[in-house]
Amino acid sequence: MKDRACFDCGGTRYAHTRLPHGPICTACRRRRHYHHESCPACGAVRPLAYLADELIVCASCAGATSIFACDTCGREDHPYGAKRCARCTLRERLTDLLADPTTGQIHTRLQPVFDELVESERPQSGIWWLRKNPGTGPRLLRQMARGEIQISHETFRELPSDRAHDYLRTLLTAVGVLEPFEIRIERILPWIEKVTADLPAEQAALIQRFAHWHVLRHMRTAAREDRLTQTITDASRRRIRVAIDFVAFLETCGASPATATQDLLERYQEHTGTAFSHEHAFIVWLRDTRINTRLSIPAIARLAPTVTVSDEQRWAAVDRLLHDDSLRRYVRIGGLLTLLFAQPLSRIVTMRTSQTAVTDQAVHVTFNTTAVQMPPLLDDLIRQHLQHRGKSLYASRETGWLFPGGNPGRHLSTEAIRSQLVAIGIKPYENRKATLFCLAGDIPAPVLADLIGITHSNAAAWAGLAARDWTDYIAERSR
Ligand SMILES: [Zn+2]
Ligand SMILES: [Zn+2]
Ligand SMILES: [Zn+2]
Repeated sequence: MKDRACFDCGGTRYAHTRLPHGPICTACRRRRHYHHESCPACGAVRPLAYLADELIVCASCAGATSIFACDTCGREDHPYGAKRCARCTLRERLTDLLADPTTGQIHTRLQPVFDELVESERPQSGIWWLRKNPGTGPRLLRQMARGEIQISHETFRELPSDRAHDYLRTLLTAVGVLEPFEIRIERILPWIEKVTADLPAEQAALIQRFAHWHVLRHMRTAAREDRLTQTITDASRRRIRVAIDFVAFLETCGASPATATQDLLERYQEHTGTAFSHEHAFIVWLRDTRINTRLSIPAIARLAPTVTVSDEQRWAAVDRLLHDDSLRRYVRIGGLLTLLFAQPLSRIVTMRTSQTAVTDQAVHVTFNTTAVQMPPLLDDLIRQHLQHRGKSLYASRETGWLFPGGNPGRHLSTEAIRSQLVAIGIKPYENRKATLFCLAGDIPAPVLADLIGITHSNAAAWAGLAARDWTDYIAERSR
C-alpha cells in the first residue's frame, strides 16, 4: 500500500492524482492548485507539485504537462473544477444564459455584459453570482436575451427596486447597455405617485408639478454634479411632504394654494409649530410660479458659519481614526481627510487614485491644484489602501476610483463612510466645519482656497470667523 500513500502528506485516502514521482491526495492537490508559489527553479508564480533535484518545482521546470492546466484554455490560474478553470466555466454558463435563440449567439446588445463578467479579475465571483441568485438577475438576463422582456430602464421601473435588481441595472448601465441613471431619482418617482395617489386630482396635479419642476430638478442638478447624497434625497422627500401637508391644511380651512392668504399661512405655521425653513420650498415655489403672490415667508437666513466641535474633540477623533485598527481602512482614511483637510465626504468618495503620489519617503494627495503631503500614519494607511482597495464584487475592471463601490463602475457612496463615522460618534459635517475654522486661522484665505478646493469667498468667510474669535480671545486675555 506504500505506493498508494500521498507523496505530500502520507495519507492514503483519495490519493488518486498521479504525478511522475508519486500520487497526491485530493486535499493536497487542491492546496497546491489554489496556493500558487514562486518556483524555486524559474521564479514563476504557479502551482508547484513536481519533483526535480529534490525541489518541488513548476510543471515546465520538470518538463511535464501540468495537471493543473485547464482543459480548455491551458491556464493554471482561477482553479475551479478539476478539469476546467473558473473563467472557462463562467464563459460556458454565460454563453448559455445570454444566447439569443434566433441566432444561437450571445445577444448582441448583451455582449458587453458577457465581456465584463468573463474578463473580471475574479471569475469565481461571477459563477457564484449566477448560482446564488438564479431567480433574479440571471433570470432577467435570460429573459432579455430571449426577447421576452425589453432591455430598458422601463423594465426595471416595473420591478421592485431591491439589491438584486439594482445590481443588474447598475451593471447594465456601467457597461453601456443602458443609459446612465440615478437610483435615488428612480426611487423617488414611484414614491411621488404613491403619496399623491389619494389626493383630489387638482391637488395631486399641483404637487406633482412642484415635485417634477422644482424638487426633481434640484436632484438632477446635484446628480449631474455628482453630489446627490442621501441627505439631499431625504430633504427632497420632506419638501414634498410639507407641500402635501400644507395643501391639506388649506383644504380644512376651505382654501386652496391659489386662494390662500398670508393670514392662513401664519395660522399654518402656528399649527405646525415649526419655523420656516428650506422645507417650505413649496410656498416659495407658489410665489415664484405666480400661482399665489400674496404669500411670503421671511427670507430664510443664509446661516453664517458656526463651529460646534471643540479642538479637543476633533483631535480625539483624529487620534482614534489614526490608531483604531478595528475600523475599516476606507472609513479611517475618509474620516481623516475630512478631519485634517476639511474635504467633504461627497468629494472624498469621488477621488481618483491618480490624485495620490506615493514614494518611499512620502505620500502626497492633490485635493485641488496643489499636492499636499500626508502626515505620518495617514500616509501608511493610504499606502496600504492603494494595495488592497475594495473591488466591485462581480465585475471588477479597474475604474481608477480611490474608493471603488460595491456596484460595477461606481465609487463608494458618501453614506458608506458617513454612517460608520457617526456610529463611533464622529459627525463628519460638524468636524469638517471645525477643521475649516482651524485651517482658516492658520492659512491665508487664497492659499486655503487653492489647497483644499473651496471657493475664495468661503475661505474668506471662514478666515473672518477665525480672526473674529482670535480677536475676542486677545481682548479677553488683555482684560
Ligand atoms: Zn495529501
Ligand atoms: Zn519553474
Ligand atoms: Zn480555462
